Amino acid sequence: MVAFCMKVVCTGNSPMKQRPRKPAVPRPAEETLRRAISELIRDEPLPAREISVRAHLTEKDVYSHLEHIRHSLHAAGSRLEMTPAECRSCGFVFSKRDRLTPPGKCPICRCETIFEPLFAIRERTVHDP
Ligand SMILES: [Zn+2]
Repeated sequence: MVAFCMKVVCTGNSPMKQRPRKPAVPRPAEETLRRAISELIRDEPLPAREISVRAHLTEKDVYSHLEHIRHSLHAAGSRLEMTPAECRSCGFVFSKRDRLTPPGKCPICRCETIFEPLFAIRERTVHDP
């Protein structure tokens, strides 16, 4: 009888090469994420919590992406529409708030239950006079 000799060829012996350092450019994944978020809220206002669930991100990440989206949209002619946060208790609307994150408590009644702000992307509509 002839015994077959199974030779295992090892090819993983190439010498380690030093990787060149990558330049500090934004990761493509970030651009993809921002595009995904933009698609989620296109004409559909959503709170950051909902976006975080759908995009599998933390709320903190969602806010940082939204901040970036807000700036890039401005250049593109669209805009990030923000429905301001509102106090559930007394109805105070945080309309002058420029930050994206929701406020901690109501300045009027000190209530801490706040309706979260909603975010949507609106295309700029051109009105001819
Ligand atoms: Zn209040």
